[in-house]
Amino acid sequence: MKVLVINAGSSSLKYQLYDMKDESVLAKGLVERIGMDSSIVTHKPAGLAEVSEVSEILEHTTAVRKVLSLLTDKEHGVIGSVDEIEAVGHRVVHGGEYFGESALVDGDVKTKIRQLFDLAPLHNPASMMGIKAAESNMPHVPQVVVFDTAFHQSMPENAYLYAIPRVLYKKHKVRRYGAHGTSHEFVSKAAAEFLDRPIEELKIISCHIGNGASLTAVQEGRSIDTSMGMTPLEGLMMGTRSGDLDPAIVPYVMNKEELTVNEVNSMLNKHSGLLAISGISSDMREITEGMQKGDANSKLAFEMYEYRLRKYIGSYAAVMNGVDVIVFTAGVGENSVVLRKKVCENLTYLGVELDEELNEIRSGEPRRISTANSKVQVLVVPTNEELVIARDTNRIVQGLKS
Ligand code: ADP
Repeated sequence: MKVLVINAGSSSLKYQLYDMKDESVLAKGLVERIGMDSSIVTHKPAGLAEVSEVSEILEHTTAVRKVLSLLTDKEHGVIGSVDEIEAVGHRVVHGGEYFGESALVDGDVKTKIRQLFDLAPLHNPASMMGIKAAESNMPHVPQVVVFDTAFHQSMPENAYLYAIPRVLYKKHKVRRYGAHGTSHEFVSKAAAEFLDRPIEELKIISCHIGNGASLTAVQEGRSIDTSMGMTPLEGLMMGTRSGDLDPAIVPYVMNKEELTVNEVNSMLNKHSGLLAISGISSDMREITEGMQKGDANSKLAFEMYEYRLRKYIGSYAAVMNGVDVIVFTAGVGENSVVLRKKVCENLTYLGVELDEELNEIRSGEPRRISTANSKVQVLVVPTNEELVIARDTNRIVQGLKS
């Protein structure tokens, strides 16, 4: 079966076409600047040259039409006809308490995604545009939605509730939902497979550290706590997000600086984190470079980032009464040799012993970076959220046939 995976943002749409026979990617690409004066489409067919073009794409339906025409193009295409696409899988950020797993799109599912617009005002409306765009271009093809929050629905009440009046949970569903669930689930399963151990026997701390960053405590294969909260602002220090802070800072700063709700929200989400402390960049590569050149602000930004990460690892070891495996993934986790080294150097009390040579090796495969004697296995596992979406979509749509 061929599955088209769509990840729709408010002005962008990423896609990958999978052949589920061997889980190969036939083509992938990105439509950027949807609704702006000149949209850019980048299409990368496997084994063929990448094509990039500027065209007018005012909304998501046109974007999907453009993607389908590229996929079937005589020169740059990889399939003979759109009919070869048997299912579409969509990434949806927020599934609230409705979705603990992926779902086949129907009227009820769409209503629920709409009801969650309040909880993910930037993301869920964009996902909905992606779903509608695929439906109008491929009305007879089944659509599946895969949620970033679903894996974390297994968290117990004591982890997902905030210690605030409970009426806020009852009335407005204020609670921890987490994010990056698709990635945490994928890398924790891949880690168990790599170690050839049943996941049910393992206590895993999964560290998804990219532009956004979150940690998850995975016990018996289930998420039991995660660092992102009701929104992706809570938890670790990130590229431009503050992560944890004293909530009383918000009204204090709003008052002193005469900021509006939107302004303070933007400050915490877009102008904080690595960017605010370094004053240079939100990109860990530039921070590391700055630090190595002796820039004091970059060094401080790196140290704060690493310190907070280590604090969360310690707290999740406490939550699970131990840890067997620590997994690093996403842009920073997969690539930053120096960050992994700094974190692991200070986890010897848990029994972590880093193998510095293994830590230096770069490969796109899951690998161990701890020594043979290390009590805790430390792994690097490249994440692949699109593959999870394609697999779930394939499974659900195959189920319809049987
Ligand atoms: P997103 O959260 O947007 O999916 P990624 O997981 O792709 O992001 O992570 C992007 C981040 O990964 C970049 O901002 C950059 O800081 C970091 N990164 C990528 N390569 C390296 C590297 N070699 N060393 C350190 N950080 C890196």
